Amino acid sequence: MKQQAIKCAECGGTLEERTINHTQQWGEELYRFEDVPALVCAQCGHVWLAAEVSQRIDQIIREHPKPKAYQKVPVFSLLRTKAKGAGAGTT
Ligand SMILES: [Zn+2]
Repeated sequence: MKQQAIKCAECGGTLEERTINHTQQWGEELYRFEDVPALVCAQCGHVWLAAEVSQRIDQIIREHPKPKAYQKVPVFSLLRTKAKGAGAGTT
């Protein structure tokens, strides 16, 4: 196989073929995909999924087969979380 030199469209860095964990939001649900083949920029870390891969993810979500596992994902909003300690006064 001939190696293609694909450049990151964001920064022009080199893209490396990697297998990543990908989290996809669909409405209010989060879907987690493991062993996703992707191109990751060595410079800025931007993740590029091939059209074929994202189509497959799309299809999996639509068809909703039984997943390998369920995982609870904690979600935090920085708007609702007050920073502790800062400006709390002195004793
Ligand atoms: Zn980049």
